[in-house]
Amino acid sequence: MNTMVDTVIVGAGIAGLVAARDLVRSGQDVLVLEARDRVGGRLLNGELPDGSPIEVGGQWVGPTQYKAMALVDELGLETYRSYAEGRNIIELGSVRKTYTGRIPKLNPAVLADIGQIQARLDRLGRRVAEAGDPWQVARAEEIDSRTFATQLDKMSYTSAGRAFFNVITEAVFSAGPEDMSALWAAHYIGAAGGIDALINVENGAQQDRISGGSQRIALALAEELGDRVVLDSPVSEIDWADDEVRVTAGGSTIRARRAVIAIPPPLAARIKYSPGLPSDRDQLVQRMPMGRVIKVNVAYEEPFWRSEGFSGQANSDRRPLGTVLDNTPQAGRPGVLVGFLEGKHADVCSRMSLEERQARVVDDLVGYFGPQARRPIAYIERDWAQEEYSRGCYGAFTTPSTLTRFGRALRAPIGPLHWAGTETATKWPGYIDGAAESGHRVANEILQ
Ligand code: FAD
Repeated sequence: MNTMVDTVIVGAGIAGLVAARDLVRSGQDVLVLEARDRVGGRLLNGELPDGSPIEVGGQWVGPTQYKAMALVDELGLETYRSYAEGRNIIELGSVRKTYTGRIPKLNPAVLADIGQIQARLDRLGRRVAEAGDPWQVARAEEIDSRTFATQLDKMSYTSAGRAFFNVITEAVFSAGPEDMSALWAAHYIGAAGGIDALINVENGAQQDRISGGSQRIALALAEELGDRVVLDSPVSEIDWADDEVRVTAGGSTIRARRAVIAIPPPLAARIKYSPGLPSDRDQLVQRMPMGRVIKVNVAYEEPFWRSEGFSGQANSDRRPLGTVLDNTPQAGRPGVLVGFLEGKHADVCSRMSLEERQARVVDDLVGYFGPQARRPIAYIERDWAQEEYSRGCYGAFTTPSTLTRFGRALRAPIGPLHWAGTETATKWPGYIDGAAESGHRVANEILQ
């Protein structure tokens, strides 16, 4: 194939597909090159034993995710509420509590500590969001020079309060607080509108699911784009000049006036650019690793925990399966618990055999919900760090002193090259919403 188009797009995740749709609607000739044999990237539907879909990648949408919700509406898809009735479980230090509502009945000193840490983090997040770009906030360099772990150590008075934020960080970033810059964490919190928005089911990022599974968003976009989306086309080289790009994918070369690179930063770093990219951009992508997560869906004949008064939501600072939620499909059967092996837990569990890992996961579910959890009818897992074209999940983050030194290169076009992907978003980076925002933004850049 030796083709000439207006814009070539690398990656058929939400970012690339949204950019393509906007450009096509404005009359552009567009080609989307996707490395995998499917669209959706970090969104993927798996299958339960009865053949119904179950999300093995990204799945939830929630309030204030306006771009994601607009897409769902425009594509004629429907959402339904995540199950959130009954008691949640939390294990922190040596304590196990069940609770309803938002706040566990922990020791008052610990609760007060969690409250004040959250208030301070929310305030910092708001300041960063109001600054426009994170590197513009007052004392940006100082904040960025710390890990989020150092920030939490500075803010917390009790070990259980500190442990709570470890659990939350792993659940939100699939990385530990010691891995990332405090400024990145603050940017993420601010861009989502606060910690409650990030961690809650009701009124939070886990509130709603897409009927038929979240990959349907990508599948519907790709259907609109038709043969403009070319699968099995991993882009390996991009030659660029001021007003032209030549993109090599397999044996084909695509010529275009512009290129959108809509892939996570560590994957963008693997492409060979000629001439080489300015060093700020190259240094940036060397300092943005992906988080690490193994997502597991464990199916049961029925959601037995519901009849025992549990919501299915459980968190722990002592189990590899630190976060669990009810993931039962809309039909109500089979019962499904979704769990996440995140960060360091993913390191350890990925070295186990499948049988060992499954046994470990089931042990943790028994620990949370009792012996009925011992008898699953299906175990479906996806280790995202093993995916050649994701290299980890949920998203990339910046290491200390990266945003302030090189953050300006995150979105800035370089000649005819434009950068999209959820990591580049100003609202809900790391989420479907952020991916959609970046697709719209990059299409606007090109059209202007
Ligand atoms: P991607 O989806 O990564 O798309 C990039 C595409 O580019 C991929 O299709 C990839 O195959 C392709 N590609 C890569 N390299 C090349 C190359 N060289 N040439 C051609 N193509 C290439 N978000 C939420 O909003 N809610 C959630 O509940 C949620 N949970 C998550 C749980 C898990 C387990 C995971 C993995 C992610 C989760 N996310 C969630 C994050 C969400 O899935 C992502 O933010 C979003 O899908 C990213 O879209 P994107 O288009 O930016 O990137």
